[in-house]
Amino acid sequence: MPDGSIPTPRPLRDADALAGAGLVPAESLPALRQVAARYAVSVTPAMAALIDPADPADPIAAQYIPRAWELETTPQELADPIADHPHTPVKGVVHRYPDRALLKPLLACPVYCRFCFRREQVGPAGGVLSEAELDTALEWFATHPQVQEAILTGGDPLMLSPRRLAHIVRRLSAMPHIRIIRLHSRVPVADPARITDALAEALDTETALFLCLHANHTREFTDDARAALRRLSRAGVALLGQTVLLRGVNDTAETLEALLRTMLAHRVKPYYLHQLDRAPGTARFEVPIAEGRALLESLRGRVTGLAWPTYALDLPDGQGKAPIGPDFAERRDGGWQVRGPLGGAHFQPDQDAAPAG
Ligand SMILES: *Cc1c(COP(=O)(O)O)cnc(C)c1O
Ligand code: SF4
Repeated sequence: MPDGSIPTPRPLRDADALAGAGLVPAESLPALRQVAARYAVSVTPAMAALIDPADPADPIAAQYIPRAWELETTPQELADPIADHPHTPVKGVVHRYPDRALLKPLLACPVYCRFCFRREQVGPAGGVLSEAELDTALEWFATHPQVQEAILTGGDPLMLSPRRLAHIVRRLSAMPHIRIIRLHSRVPVADPARITDALAEALDTETALFLCLHANHTREFTDDARAALRRLSRAGVALLGQTVLLRGVNDTAETLEALLRTMLAHRVKPYYLHQLDRAPGTARFEVPIAEGRALLESLRGRVTGLAWPTYALDLPDGQGKAPIGPDFAERRDGGWQVRGPLGGAHFQPDQDAAPAG
């Protein structure tokens, strides 16, 4: 390099780049070019470095490397699986619950997950709100005092420059009715180099700010990810975790336990375990709900209660996220039959009339 600078490794953004890096065989190129033309592809250097190309079942590759079967859709799959569209009052805002709303400042992500529920919307060219559109979206929050929580999602809000992010955080923090700012992001694991001091500073605010990290496998927590998360927590950011239950990635008790324990060891409190949303071409990732419930049940009592996420299904008709078990209590005549996580059971009779006095 003439100026002596170190070349910055770039994300792999198409099938040919993946083949060049030895991550897909050349004979699959024609099919994968078709997939990449339909659904965005990006594998960051951090994630590419974790993939073992010799392992056909590599859990990191499974999440990011396109496969020919993505072009097959099932009758159950929907382009907008959680019905964002009908709940959009102004561009970039999704309002479904009375007390909280989403702000989507852009639709780009560091990586493009092959199971993404917004795969028909996200992409590198991805819908950045213009200054005027962002202003209108923020005005919507300013004029809806019943909304107490602003949830930045996308795309991935940490793809914004620290300057733009600081602007949004400052504007939201100045609204007295906004008591919580939440960001949903994959950046701290997928592209930890983006978590600079300037970015952490952009998130440093008096308003309670939560970052909900999307991570699906213990190996995503590299040393660089650890440093990025530490930087965020030093800036006062509270860390939560969200995971999509995925066939071939985290669908055994061992892989799920390892992930949840690793999250906690990085100060990330597991929040949601999502049942897969049925976006087009994702059926091979689906784990049946009965299996998901059994997996979680096998962890209860064996793994610290801090690791326990809420297993949830985002209802396809836009009716919100519903917890889907497992259940430990069952209504019986005159009380509740409760199973203990350590194997025992207990019948809790209803209390008779409250003692007088
Ligand atoms: C997922 C989602 C939320 C957040 O739901 P929580 O259960 O509070 O995490 C809020 N609004 C919309 C539109 C959502 O899709
Ligand atoms: S980071 Fe989230 S929004 Fe982006 S591709 Fe992955 S699942 Fe989709």
